[in-house]
Amino acid sequence: MTLITMDQAKEYVGQEISIGAWVTNKRSSGKIAFLQLRDGAHYFQGIVLKNDVGEELFDVAKSLTQETSLIVKGIIQEDTRSKLGYELLVTGIEVVGESHDYPITPKEHGTDFLMDHRHLWLRSSRQHAIMKIRNEIIRATYEFFNQEGFIKVDPPILTGSAPEGTTELFHTKYFDEEAYLSQSGQLYMEAAAMAFGKVFSFGPTFRAEKSKTRRHLIEFWMMEPEMAFMHQDQSLEVQEKYVAYLVQSVLDNCDIYLDTLERDKELLKKYTQLPYDRISYDDAVALLNANGFDDIVWGDDFGSPHETFIANQSDRPVFILNYPKAIKPFYMKEHPDRPEVVLCADMIAPEGYGEIIGGSEREVDYQRLSEQIEKFGLSKEDYSWYLDLRKYGSVPHSGFGLGLERMVTWISGTEHIRESIPFPRLLNRIYP
Ligand code: ATP
Ligand code: MG
Ligand code: MG
Ligand code: MG
Repeated sequence: MTLITMDQAKEYVGQEISIGAWVTNKRSSGKIAFLQLRDGAHYFQGIVLKNDVGEELFDVAKSLTQETSLIVKGIIQEDTRSKLGYELLVTGIEVVGESHDYPITPKEHGTDFLMDHRHLWLRSSRQHAIMKIRNEIIRATYEFFNQEGFIKVDPPILTGSAPEGTTELFHTKYFDEEAYLSQSGQLYMEAAAMAFGKVFSFGPTFRAEKSKTRRHLIEFWMMEPEMAFMHQDQSLEVQEKYVAYLVQSVLDNCDIYLDTLERDKELLKKYTQLPYDRISYDDAVALLNANGFDDIVWGDDFGSPHETFIANQSDRPVFILNYPKAIKPFYMKEHPDRPEVVLCADMIAPEGYGEIIGGSEREVDYQRLSEQIEKFGLSKEDYSWYLDLRKYGSVPHSGFGLGLERMVTWISGTEHIRESIPFPRLLNRIYP
C-alpha cells in the first residue's frame, strides 16, 4: 500500500487513499468524531461518521490518544474552512504505535519544560512552521547563489589555526595536536574564491559565547559567500539582493506557515524592496548621541538597543558601514582615506532582530596583512597558507556571513533564536 501525504491532497480529491499520521487532538460526540492529525507534511482534520463506519471503528476512533500513530484510510474532500483546504473522510484506522501520557498537552508549558522535551516539542504546528521556513531559506539560498554563478564549497569544521584569535573557541584534540571547531569558514572561503571566483558555503559554526541573549546560539549555521574581483559597495548589492530574495521566497512558498505563526506579511513585503538604507558608523554614533544614548562613544561596538534604534529609522534592513578598525578582525581592509575605519558593514534587521549579516572587503596586500597578523598577536606560521593568497595573484575581494537562525527568527517573527534550530545548543543546555 502506498501512503500519500496531505501535500498531495489536491491530486486525490474524491479518492480513497491511505496516510501515515499521528493524532494531535480529538473531539467526539455521539455520532461524529473529529481527529486532528499530523502526517509530517501538514496538520489536518479527519472526520469519522458513526453511521458510515460502524460502531467498532467509531469506538477505535473515540479511544485514540494524543500522538498515537496510525495508518488512516479515507476519502480526500475539499474543505474551504480549513487553512489547508482539504480534510479526510475516514473509512479505516490501523493503529501502528500506541501513545500514553504524552507529556506535551494542549495547556501552556514553561520554556524549560519545552526545552527538556525538545525532541517532542518539534511535533507542534508552530515548530513545524518554523522548520518549514528554515528549510525554504536554505533551499532559496542554493537557488539564489547557483543562479548568480556561485559554486558551493565546504570549508573544514576541524581547524588547526584559530581564525580570529578570540576566546570563543571550542578546543579539541586532533590526535596529538591542538585543534578547534570552526567559528567561521571565511579564510578558507577566501582561498576558494581565489580558485573559483564566486563561492558560497553553508555549514555549522561553533562559538563558546558566554552571553545569554535571545540571539546567540553556541552552535549555529552560517552562509558565507566570498567573491573575487569585488569591492565592498558591490558586495552590499549582492547582500541586499540575497536577503530580499529569501524574504520573497518565504512569502511565495510558506504562506500557510506564516499564517500559523501569525506573521505580518505586509511587513515582510516591505523587506523585499531595494535598496536598503546605508548609514555610516560615524553618523550612527552621532544619531544615537543626539537621541539620548550617552553610553556610546566613537570607538565602541553597538549593543542591541543601539542596533535597534538605528534599524528603527527605516522600514527595512539597514547597513551600518565602516566601523572602527580597532573593534574589527585583522582581515578587514582599511578605508583608503581613513585609516581609523575599515571597509565593512553589518546588516541590521528591523523589529529589533539585530545583526543578521557581517561582511567586509578583505585586506589583500601582503605587507599590510602580515603586519595586521602580527599586531593581533597571531602566529605567522599558522597563517602562512593564508598569506600565500596575497603572494600569488592577489585581487580585491569581499565577502559576508549570514546567520541562518538569525534570519529564520526574524522572518518567522519568533521571540528567541532557540526555536529556529531543531536542537539548540545554548549556554546552559546540551540536552536533548
Ligand atoms: P553579534 O554581534 O550578534 O555577536 P557577530 O558580529 O559576532 O554577531 P559575525 O562574526 O559577524 O557575528 O558572524 C556573522 C553572522 O553570524 C552574524 O551577522 C549573525 O547573523 C550570525 N551569528 C553570529 N554569532 C551568532 C550566534 N552566536 N548565534 C547565532 N548566529 C550568530
Ligand atoms: Mg558575536
Ligand atoms: Mg557584531
Ligand atoms: Mg559581525
